[in-house]
Amino acid sequence: MCDCGAARRPGPPRRMDPALAERAVRDAAAAGLREVIPSTLGEPLLWAGLDRLVDLCAALGVSLNVTTNGTFPGRGPVRWAERLVPVASDVKISWNGATPATAAAVMPGLDLPRAIDDLRAFVAVRDALERGRAKGQPDEAAPERAGGAAEREPRARAPRGERPPGRRTRISFQVTAQEANVGELADVVRLAASLGVERVKVNQLQVRRPALADRSLLRSVAAIRRWNAAVAAMRAAAEAAPLPSGGRVLLENVAPLAEDPAAPAPRGPCPFVGREAWLHPDGRLAPCPHPAAARGELGDFGSAAGAPLLALWSAPALRSFVAAWPAHPVCGSCPFRRPGGA
Ligand code: SF4
Repeated sequence: MCDCGAARRPGPPRRMDPALAERAVRDAAAAGLREVIPSTLGEPLLWAGLDRLVDLCAALGVSLNVTTNGTFPGRGPVRWAERLVPVASDVKISWNGATPATAAAVMPGLDLPRAIDDLRAFVAVRDALERGRAKGQPDEAAPERAGGAAEREPRARAPRGERPPGRRTRISFQVTAQEANVGELADVVRLAASLGVERVKVNQLQVRRPALADRSLLRSVAAIRRWNAAVAAMRAAAEAAPLPSGGRVLLENVAPLAEDPAAPAPRGPCPFVGREAWLHPDGRLAPCPHPAAARGELGDFGSAAGAPLLALWSAPALRSFVAAWPAHPVCGSCPFRRPGGA
């Protein structure tokens, strides 16, 4: 586990009952749910309910947006690609270095050469599936895999089971910018381009415990300058290194910061409130992923374990919060209101 993960609350792993997830997704789909993000603050490919959720999303015509650590546990990259690509709008791989030493320093135990090989295999299956889809043919990738046909079948039968024309599964790197990797961020962009990874999304390290403070790029003028230099280098790399398709890697949250940590840019709108429903493993509804919401500091919005999600979504508790969130003290200092949590 990386140090950021180690900052999470101690105790046994918290995992959502797959039946609870299914109820909530079915309920929300009836009201136009577009996307499910199975974020567990852990590795979603290890969650016992993921197969059921993949099938459900396929049947309901809802997209899946997955973030994984890229180790593809249990099945390996080819079979995971076959499983996920038919329903995924975006597969984000946590990626924190361009050299083995840096990647392993941020994600202990990570074998970067193996991770690159696995990602190549995943992208190859994605590309083959997309080519097959573009031709209007059955998926041509790895047809010998036993699961493939069975997985595609529900999509063909589903009332809204076809993905919108022209949409493909985007593969992204999700990077946590910090002192350990700031010098390699441009190389990460070049690596993404070479592998066919269309987007590099960068978030700033959030200091959730004192031991992380020295790693933050937001802590001092000198650190912010290193980030700003990395921004220029990443943009140049994206411009100079085309994807195999000929396009350019999309950079997200890659923007220079004001150099004075005491005078950052003003906070913008909340990217979550009123748009997304966050369910904690026990079913409690939250308006956003802020840790304060998990602690109940934003309010009590009920639990999908005891009530339909749609009823909670339209209940006075959440509606009142949505109407008045800018006045809440947690929202007033919320890092999510700046790109990348900066
Ligand atoms: S705490 Fe942040 S993310 Fe959550 S509702 Fe407030 S502004 Fe939005």
